[in-house]
Amino acid sequence: MAKIYRDNDVDMKVLNGRKIGVIGYGNQGRAQALNIRDSGFSPMIGNGDDRYRDLAVRDGFEVHAISRVAAESDVILLLIPDEVQPEVYDEQIRPHLNPGDILCFASGYNVYYKTIRPPAGVGVIMVAPRMIGESVRNLYRDGLGFPCLVASENDDDGRFMPIALAIAGAVGATRFGAFESSFREETTIDLFAEQMLWPGIIKLCLLYFEKLIENGCDPQIVTTELYLSGEFVEIARAMITHGFFGQLKLHSQTSQFGQLSSADKMAPPELLTRVDEVVDEICSGKFHRKWAKEQKDGKPNMKKLWQEALNHPLAEAEAELENLRKIVARSYGGSD
Ligand code: NDP
Repeated sequence: MAKIYRDNDVDMKVLNGRKIGVIGYGNQGRAQALNIRDSGFSPMIGNGDDRYRDLAVRDGFEVHAISRVAAESDVILLLIPDEVQPEVYDEQIRPHLNPGDILCFASGYNVYYKTIRPPAGVGVIMVAPRMIGESVRNLYRDGLGFPCLVASENDDDGRFMPIALAIAGAVGATRFGAFESSFREETTIDLFAEQMLWPGIIKLCLLYFEKLIENGCDPQIVTTELYLSGEFVEIARAMITHGFFGQLKLHSQTSQFGQLSSADKMAPPELLTRVDEVVDEICSGKFHRKWAKEQKDGKPNMKKLWQEALNHPLAEAEAELENLRKIVARSYGGSD
């Protein structure tokens, strides 16, 4: 059973006297910096000279070059995209680290794949929200929390984990619960969802669309049924309220029979083999090497895949429903 830390388990005083630096002011950077400040601390922001910097200044933060923030901070939250972290770390952070400094990651990726290797004596902790940045901020402001995974490495005497928990507390995660985890586990569950669960859902949605159109159904009605009605969101909400299986009882008997009797048939042996391959590619580092090469080459395959996705007939049906989508988006609190 995972150990779960909540507010009462956290000693926020371990942050007293430690200067907190937040590198990056994007999705997570802005949300976490604002929450940390509202929790009573004074983080400074490290960012280049662009619109993110302007936003941080407008929000009332002290903003400096990344290297200066790295040099002046005791706890450094690295909240820039995983892809750029190794280079920024090597050039602007690593030269300023001293024993006892603590580097805090919001994802396990670069530590697990060893693309960032902090020196001995530097604490390596992870506070990885299971939440998009905007909601990290909104849930905190609403007095609620969100789950996160915490871990610490280079920590034989256990002195860095309390700092990870205090950061989790300051950003608001321990109101919900911080789950003790590892860099490996965070990376694996994250990449496995991205490479097995969500692509499986994308492919099934596209097949659903294609087969119904082939069978004479109207593309706009199918698109609405697929996701625009919001039923998808309501089912996910019902999973939280009634449980993963419990929500099935909200559907008709015909639906329950259809869903339960078909689920296994949707996973033929070839799919199960592919699922195993995906885990192996993640755990062995094969995917990491492929993605590193793709980035080095200028992302040619990524560009091609995007082009193919946007050429799908579902994109056309969606464009025709743009006005309806904007109305639904407003009712879900999203911006259009
Ligand atoms: P963003 O894409 O929002 O980061 C934008 C910030 O990174 C800006 O401040 C930008 O500043 C800076 N940045 C981008 N490129 C560079 C560069 N080459 N050098 C220096 N700064 C750069 O990142 P996220 O908030 O999405 O992700 C941050 C971390 O949080 C990652 O580890 C991610 O895995 C993790 N995470 C993200 C979640 C999310 O909801 N997005 C959820 C949970 C974890 P500038 O343009 O000025 O350089």
